[in-house]
Amino acid sequence: MKIHEYQAKVLFRKYNVPVPKGEVAFTVEEAQKVAGTLGGYPVVVKAQIHAGGRGKGGGVKLARSLDEVKQLAGEILGMTLVTHQTGPKGQPVKKVLVEQGLNIAKELYLSVVADRATAQVVIMASEAGGMDIEAVAAETPEKIIKVYVNPLNGIQGYHCLQAAYGLNLPAAAVKPFVQLLNNLYKLFIEYDCSLVEINPLIITADDAILALDAKINFDDNALFRHKDLLEFRDLDEEDPAEVEASKFNLNYINLDGNVGNMVNGAGLAMATMDIIKLAGAEPANFLDVGGGANAEMVENGFRIILSDPNVKGILINIFGGILRCDVLAEGVVKAAQKTGIKVPVVVRMEGTNVDAGRKILADSGLNLTPAVDLSDAAAKVAKMVGA
Ligand code: ADP
Ligand code: MG
Repeated sequence: MKIHEYQAKVLFRKYNVPVPKGEVAFTVEEAQKVAGTLGGYPVVVKAQIHAGGRGKGGGVKLARSLDEVKQLAGEILGMTLVTHQTGPKGQPVKKVLVEQGLNIAKELYLSVVADRATAQVVIMASEAGGMDIEAVAAETPEKIIKVYVNPLNGIQGYHCLQAAYGLNLPAAAVKPFVQLLNNLYKLFIEYDCSLVEINPLIITADDAILALDAKINFDDNALFRHKDLLEFRDLDEEDPAEVEASKFNLNYINLDGNVGNMVNGAGLAMATMDIIKLAGAEPANFLDVGGGANAEMVENGFRIILSDPNVKGILINIFGGILRCDVLAEGVVKAAQKTGIKVPVVVRMEGTNVDAGRKILADSGLNLTPAVDLSDAAAKVAKMVGA
């Protein structure tokens, strides 16, 4: 799960990670009210969307007076912000963070990330922080230092010093940085985060150190342990079809192509997407109905695929193991009867109760095309969508 910057800063405050004074506002009036509590100008008006690159996209602006706050909040609230992370369609802005504008001497980068390759926590830090960190990573990766922490031992003093020296911090900032990094690590562990990122972490003219930006991603599988985070979920920022799918415990991700596909098992789903591409077509989604899916889950999955107007053909690829082929077939038939299928459907099915499954589909009177194997299925569906 992702959250907004202003929400991440609430958690930062809770863990004593210093952040500028500020608060979220949903209207221009609220923005002005918040600005009035910050004790002077400049203040910064920041679009709150679940994507980075807001500064470059025009979603972060400096206001030098209450009038400017009014003008900028008016411009940013309601705008469709396009950044390198939103895709070309952009994301509508429904709230802004209004916070103290600080005097920045230096912008650094700091993150704590779960590293799957080493099964450790990695602290990444760079002296070259700020809005061009992607270019730094691509062109001069040596400017980003990595400090690995064994999660069983936890963070130690030497990890913090290694990061501090890597950042070339002024002496006065080392102690506060070490405290900040310890607190950030604690937050990362206690909230089961997959990423905590501060870009930029700034040093002010008087050597104070603060998080100006805040990004946190949580491990969805651990969310049941953090009921307090549920109020942070913002469905406006999520794909409506993905939200619908999550209600039924379906692993669904919306993609740009036109071949909808329903598969059981994430590995088989990845392979199916590959084979659709190999046949010259593009997948419209990733959908893993799961090994233990029942007819109702299949029905909901099928309905969600059908609700995507881009879908011009569907490939159902099931290997019947725990999910038996007859159960799948029942689900497909029910969903098709309820929703009506307006696009061609190719079915490749193998495994437990495959004959019973094929019979249910054949007797259903639905217009379904059977396939003998994977490549036959992909070729057929690709032809149907005109790829
Ligand atoms: P994004 O990463 O989405 O572009 P940031 O929060 O990092 O958004 O803001 C972009 C830039 O705006 C920062 O790199 C910083 O230079 C400036 N900025 C952001 N917040 C403040 C602030 N409170 N005071 C001064 N400058 C700020
Ligand atoms: Mg940033």
